Amino acid sequence: MSPSVHVCQAGSCRRNGSEAVLLEIEELANALDGECKVKGSGCLGLCSRGPAAVSVTEGREQRSHVNLDSLEASANVVETATGTKPRLDDPGLLTRLSGVRAMRMREQAISQYRWNGALNSILDEVQDKAKRGKSSGDLERLLAEVLVKSGFKNPPFDTMPSKIEDYTQWTLEDVTKLTRHSAVFHFKSNDRKRGTPNPRGGGRSPPKPKTWHTTLLGEVGKNEEGPLPWVERDYTPISGALEWERGTCDILIKIYKDGAATSWLHRVLTAWEASGRPDAGLKVWLSKPVLTLSVPYLVSGDAASFSPASVLLLLAGTGIVAMPQVLHHRDPYGKIGISVPKRHQLHVPVDMVFSCRADDVLMLDEITERCKEASEYANTEPKPPQINKGLRNCTLLLTDAKASAENSPFPNVTCSANDLNDLKSLPNAEVLESRLSLEIVRGALAKMPEPCRVVVSGPSAFNQAARNMLLEERVSDEAITILEA
Ligand SMILES: Cc1cc2nc3c(=O)[nH]c(=O)nc-3n(C[C@H](O)[C@H](O)[C@H](O)COP(=O)(O)OP(=O)(O)OC[C@H]3O[C@@H](n4cnc5c(N)ncnc54)[C@H](O)[C@@H]3O)c2cc1C
Repeated sequence: MSPSVHVCQAGSCRRNGSEAVLLEIEELANALDGECKVKGSGCLGLCSRGPAAVSVTEGREQRSHVNLDSLEASANVVETATGTKPRLDDPGLLTRLSGVRAMRMREQAISQYRWNGALNSILDEVQDKAKRGKSSGDLERLLAEVLVKSGFKNPPFDTMPSKIEDYTQWTLEDVTKLTRHSAVFHFKSNDRKRGTPNPRGGGRSPPKPKTWHTTLLGEVGKNEEGPLPWVERDYTPISGALEWERGTCDILIKIYKDGAATSWLHRVLTAWEASGRPDAGLKVWLSKPVLTLSVPYLVSGDAASFSPASVLLLLAGTGIVAMPQVLHHRDPYGKIGISVPKRHQLHVPVDMVFSCRADDVLMLDEITERCKEASEYANTEPKPPQINKGLRNCTLLLTDAKASAENSPFPNVTCSANDLNDLKSLPNAEVLESRLSLEIVRGALAKMPEPCRVVVSGPSAFNQAARNMLLEERVSDEAITILEA
């Protein structure tokens, strides 16, 4: 069987130039004798170390390759897959491929309103061309354009601008602290430029159903991610598209002590609370909504090879934010405010396995509610059509609570084991003290009508472990969607 290479084309890998890595590996593989298939893939669960790829030899043996940020790294992937080292002694090839990589990263950043990321890539290339005595006229025009979009004309970039293209200011109205580590931030905005996740197109092109996210600018000042005084981080609101259109947005955020954006958010929140939450309060910038997954396929592109007959959510930690957005598509008119043909709604069983630390159980009330919606049919055979409400089955996995209360951002919030009793009492829910295991994945898959779409979302290590378990259970890569969280 001929070797193959699968290059991740999702999330942070794409932001880091994986489209160009795919072309690069393809070009290097084609230049060798013998057959090596190179193709793009969904997320491989290696988000924090992207661009990433896996090489497959002998039809089965897989090897992961991460941090593919140079031509040499791409050549190593081809060598692992084929056993032959590609030649890298053509300086023209080197320059051309690194140019393509930089261009793809810029295009991706610009399409998702990531002005800091886009400027970083443009500045690097302008400097590189200047060093080599080359003109960079086109790049300088692009630089000027992106600077204006991000609210600046010239340096210094030390204070926040008053206007940023495709971003609007939202005011923090309230905060609900869920656990010692995570809170829901309730924002409000009257600015109509906030857009909508579902542009109506004046009836000519009906909105395409989707799940979506927004980018928050963490105003951290000078930083290494680009010249602008902010870092850009994505968040999937747990409130719906209709709420966004009405000017409210709830975002569940886990605070990391060493996280650039979240430690900033925690600092400003603490100051805001200490000052008695004045009305003129805390303002943040949020981008217009950006597509995460298309519905009903639940993939990052427009369509997939199949429309699912069931959906299994394998979530961990803040990955739980995917649940409400997916379930809203059971009733797009009521929940999202758009009319969608039945075949593009999610009228299929949705089961969930959610893994979280015992001291960081997120959205418990919402999970319990969604399970209750389907629980009355849990013991009925055959299942009536109404079963396609809420969550058909849910397994909550509790892992060890690690951090002590003193080290946590919200030390006074308590979460008691009694809170779980409601969920435990439902016939379609179970609570286990366990990490995700092959046995649990196998049990969950056995209940899913085929073809099943499996959506995995959690920290990198969880995503990778879940993907490996799914592959071991012979779920095809095409049926797995992995999201960063
Ligand atoms: C499409 C999308 C939607 C997202 N939605 C949400 C959401 O709704 N709520 C939410 O809280 N986050 C969400 N995230 C993650 C979010 O964008 C940030 O990555 C996260 O808030 C950390 O940002 P930071 O700047 O504080 O940390 P960074 O400065 O980026 O990271 C610094 C350190 O923080 C820690 N850290 C950061 N992220 C993780 C992680 N996932 N697991 C373990 N440790 C970590 C690590 O110690 C890391 O070294 C989403 C990401 C994507 C791509």
